[in-house]
Amino acid sequence: MVLQLFNTLTRKKETFSPMNKNEVGMYGCGPTVYHYAHLGNMRTYTFVDLLKRTILFNGYKVKHVINITDVGHLVSDADEGEDKMLKGAKREKKTVWQIAEFYTQAVKKDMEQLNIISPTIWCKATDHIKEQLEMIGVLEKKGYTYTAGGNVYFDTSKLKEYGKLARLNLKAEQKARVEKDKNKKNQNDFVLWFTKSKFDDPEMKWDSKYGQGFPGWHLECSAMATKYLGEQFDIHCGAIDLIPTHHTNEIAQSEAALGVHPWVHYWMHGEFLVLSEGNKMSKSSGDFLTLQVVIDKGYDPMVYRYFCLGTHYRKPLMFSWEAMDSAQNALKKLQNKVLELLEKPKEGKKNTETYIEDFQGAINDDLNMPQALAVIWEMLKDEEVNNKEKYKTLLEFDRVLGLQLKEIKPLNIPEEVQVLMEKREHARLKKNWKEADNIRNKLKDLGYIIEDTPSGPVVKKD
Ligand code: AMP
Ligand code: ZN
Repeated sequence: MVLQLFNTLTRKKETFSPMNKNEVGMYGCGPTVYHYAHLGNMRTYTFVDLLKRTILFNGYKVKHVINITDVGHLVSDADEGEDKMLKGAKREKKTVWQIAEFYTQAVKKDMEQLNIISPTIWCKATDHIKEQLEMIGVLEKKGYTYTAGGNVYFDTSKLKEYGKLARLNLKAEQKARVEKDKNKKNQNDFVLWFTKSKFDDPEMKWDSKYGQGFPGWHLECSAMATKYLGEQFDIHCGAIDLIPTHHTNEIAQSEAALGVHPWVHYWMHGEFLVLSEGNKMSKSSGDFLTLQVVIDKGYDPMVYRYFCLGTHYRKPLMFSWEAMDSAQNALKKLQNKVLELLEKPKEGKKNTETYIEDFQGAINDDLNMPQALAVIWEMLKDEEVNNKEKYKTLLEFDRVLGLQLKEIKPLNIPEEVQVLMEKREHARLKKNWKEADNIRNKLKDLGYIIEDTPSGPVVKKD
């Protein structure tokens, strides 16, 4: 079945055709590790995970690379303002290296909790300074660089197609910038190598023939993607904020250095998670929620994943606790349905072929996950399909959804416990709290604990 993906480069859905039929090369811009990743970042990583799982579902292997930005990212994506890592170090009175290590582990843990498949390769910008300097060397040799005020810049006027990804209204965007770097020949030029001219004695610095310093932000992705995926590869992704500057500059320096066009075949971008209309969740504003906050409020991380699945990745998604509650209810319903499929055998002769086709049709239509969920609910309602078949098909679908449905196991609760549960519920409804507590204690003696959740009491082994 044909897989169609929306390519930001052409602004069209295109049929996906990888360079190498056996293995798809995919690069996703990863976290800047100066603070916890927020739910917006996690929406993007979930979108990339769904993309990868869809490609896997279509029978390809995937080589997936994610970078860790631990140097060079300034508060503005366009080389202006404070160094993000330094900002984190000052805030916590730690070294930049300690900050990077701490938040790298934190983001990896969040991704794991969201059942995001680990990339084939995690790579850190600071581990690839040599590769970045080599790329500057090639650009210099080809005449794409100049030095001013101690920094090495990429000269965008040398590249005919600069800005093709973004189709930017570059002039309007440039005017909106507050600070300006007077060393730049053209407003869109960007730094490849900073020396002390930018900051007094930065903590992270390396020797180079341009002077002791550190790389500009965009360079790491070009150097590391080339190292691990080759001079051309299939897919590059991130959220939409990366289109006008970061990805535009990645393309400029990679195509100039490598002499390949296009450097990447499919560019894919997810829309933002917003707190209110037009108000993106962002680390730098400090106005953000983390996955841990969600967990502390009693939600399973899978609820956030289900919440993300409910909106197409190219549409903004508004965060609210009410929406999280709806996602929780829907997920609970799905999980209960799984239990029912496991516990109650039900006859039925129809196979699930058409549902499998419809499901794949939905995910292959540029990752239409809301439609894929609708197909699942339709299949679950179908009286003519037996429960065993439904369960098997649902687990197949969950290879893409990643909702950990395979983990749901029947508890085999003894009848005695079930009767006590019902009695307790009866007591609770009559507001007979003393009786309800007595029964809870009895259940505890039998080795079971009761948790009252928004969708009713749940019993677990103690
Ligand atoms: P950062 O750690 O800020 O470099 O961002 C990591 C990834 O999250 C990048 O792909 C960003 O484009 C993306 N991102 C940042 N803010 C949001 C948001 N509010 N919603 C969705 N994705 C975001
Ligand atoms: Zn990048």
